[in-house]
Amino acid sequence: MYLFEPSARPALTIAGDERMFPIRQVYCIGRNYADHAAEMGFEATPESPFYFLKPAECVTQKPVVPFAVGTQKLQHEVELVVALKSGGRGLTPEQAQVAIAGYAVGLDLTRRDLQIKNRDQGRPWEIGKVFDDAAPCSALHLVEDTGYLTEGPIELLINGETRQQGDLNQMIHDPVALICYLSTLQTLHAGDLIFTGTPAGVSDLQPGDRLTAKCAGVGEMSVTLSD
Ligand code: MN
Repeated sequence: MYLFEPSARPALTIAGDERMFPIRQVYCIGRNYADHAAEMGFEATPESPFYFLKPAECVTQKPVVPFAVGTQKLQHEVELVVALKSGGRGLTPEQAQVAIAGYAVGLDLTRRDLQIKNRDQGRPWEIGKVFDDAAPCSALHLVEDTGYLTEGPIELLINGETRQQGDLNQMIHDPVALICYLSTLQTLHAGDLIFTGTPAGVSDLQPGDRLTAKCAGVGEMSVTLSD
């Protein structure tokens, strides 16, 4: 018995499938493309990746979402999203690969001004990364249909104009390596999502902008930021 009805579990639609993918934890990898790390003023290194979490409630497939409140510098980060159908701790690369349910393309929307201000003050990043509708995402495409994605173009267009362009093969840590790494620090579970980092070209968004995220293997997804 609950005091009130629990909210529905966030979930993603699955391309060509009536079932939904129930979302558990959302891991977001930082600085996984050298050119994006450089534009943020960092040198990417092949040492341990780092990550932060977004609540599953941030994931949305709504075609229109409100422009984020509290920021003068909302930015986009287009990312390959890896979805897990199994988990565990201390996974081997083989175990990590079979844990992959499929892929989506998503946006790690970021209140960059708040992120950087708090980062520079030695405070946590959440205020820059966690807000309503902070993670628009496409339908999930099952690995049975896509194969294991390790290369191919990933890009983001705003109002039809290309702003971010990269290739999945530019990731410093590929999806299997990221799953292995995350599984050394906590138990991974079916339903976990991993936003795998963004290539260079992040830029400021304006109310009314229409964002289109494209990624090899998973097609495209569009979302409009309402006023
Ligand atoms: Mn990101």
